[in-house]
Amino acid sequence: MSTLSKEQKRIAIIGGGPGGLTLALLLQQNGMEPVIYERELLDMNNKRGGSLDIHEESGQMALKEAGLYEKFQEIARYEGEDFRLLDKDGKSFIEEITAPDEKGERPEIDRGVLCDLLLNALDTSCIKYGYKLEKAVSLENGMTQLHFENGFVDTVHGLVGADGSFSRVRPSLTNNDIEYTGLTFFELNILNVAENHPDLFEFNRRGKVFALGDNKGILAQLNGDGRIKVYASLKVEKDWPEKNGISTDKPLEAKAKLLELFNDWDEELTKYIHYAEDSIIQRRIYMLPINFKWKRNPGVTLIGDAAHVMSPFAGEGVNLAMFDALNLALAIIRNNDFASAIEEYEEKMYDYSSEKAQESHDNLELSFSDDAAAKLADLMNSFYEQYNTDLENR
Ligand SMILES: Cc1cc2nc3c(=O)[nH]c(=O)nc-3n(C[C@H](O)[C@H](O)[C@H](O)COP(=O)(O)OP(=O)(O)OC[C@H]3O[C@@H](n4cnc5c(N)ncnc54)[C@H](O)[C@@H]3O)c2cc1C
Repeated sequence: MSTLSKEQKRIAIIGGGPGGLTLALLLQQNGMEPVIYERELLDMNNKRGGSLDIHEESGQMALKEAGLYEKFQEIARYEGEDFRLLDKDGKSFIEEITAPDEKGERPEIDRGVLCDLLLNALDTSCIKYGYKLEKAVSLENGMTQLHFENGFVDTVHGLVGADGSFSRVRPSLTNNDIEYTGLTFFELNILNVAENHPDLFEFNRRGKVFALGDNKGILAQLNGDGRIKVYASLKVEKDWPEKNGISTDKPLEAKAKLLELFNDWDEELTKYIHYAEDSIIQRRIYMLPINFKWKRNPGVTLIGDAAHVMSPFAGEGVNLAMFDALNLALAIIRNNDFASAIEEYEEKMYDYSSEKAQESHDNLELSFSDDAAAKLADLMNSFYEQYNTDLENR
């Protein structure tokens, strides 16, 4: 149970993504009544991105604390850890196949399924949908006033920004902003692959395929709903797509342009573009500076992407969001006041998130350098060797 006094218990969480939902659930389970303000009119987590690998030492820890680990194990896709690393000519560098009944440390789950697991355990009357935060203003009495686009105003003791990369809470703590990493993803979807495209289904297997070369990438992953999500990835200037005729409003032209860009790639790989539906989503990849910190405010903090958005090349984003939620919840429960809880949480979070931010940055640079597939294979093999040595020495 929380030791915060009743007067200090009014905590608002901005954003009902994986981080915000995990935090609200852990606080509720400890007798608190947080409110989540979410800008969307209803839960949209299943519309945002695909399969996520949930790590033993972070995301799974949060699920354990919330009492959801057994349910997670039942629905997680352990076979989704299959991984193939290829170069642009289709030459294979790594082939990982999960054995039947093997339970690895990083099983996959679709984002929507993960969020439903959290939502089903939560008293969802705490979520106010359709409340887009415009700005947060710190008051002299230490409380924070929240102004929403719909005109609603609330005043709270504790504010947690779990509102992702483009956080509206962050500007109340710092002038620093996200930076474009130089990488743009074009997200494509191939539906019901097993039935519609058995050749690609066999090629892709049950997990991820990374094909890297020429400072470009085709990154694909099978999702739990039978689709393959494909990220055709380019290292380009921020306005390059507009200048080069790739527009999400004109998906057929955009696909044709992508096929042109990858025209000298192995034809098994270009099937990922050929077979895709005629719709395309452009995702510029952003990051906060490595070692990013803000000036402490006793009534406001950030978790997840709002605190440390990084490129997905360490596979840590959702895991850190849930791990932040766990650490902040535990700190709130342990401390007598929100300010001390924030201090405890932030010191710890800065340490682990900056390490992952560096890893993610390094992996991105490596993945889009010359001979990327060979270099990434070397890096991964050195991790495996280290891991096996550690296991033997245990
Ligand atoms: C293409 C891509 C692939 C990825 N792949 C992986 C992966 O394989 N593994 C991994 O771990 N991570 C991956 N990530 C990152 C992962 O999706 C994020 O790190 C994770 O979703 C962060 O969770 P969050 O709760 O902090 O924020 P978000 O998931 O961004 O949720 C923020 C919530 O806040 C709401 N919101 C935003 N602004 C406001 C506002 N002003 N007022 C009210 N509500 C607001 C949003 O609607 C949303 O519901 C990937 C990301 C991308 C873009």
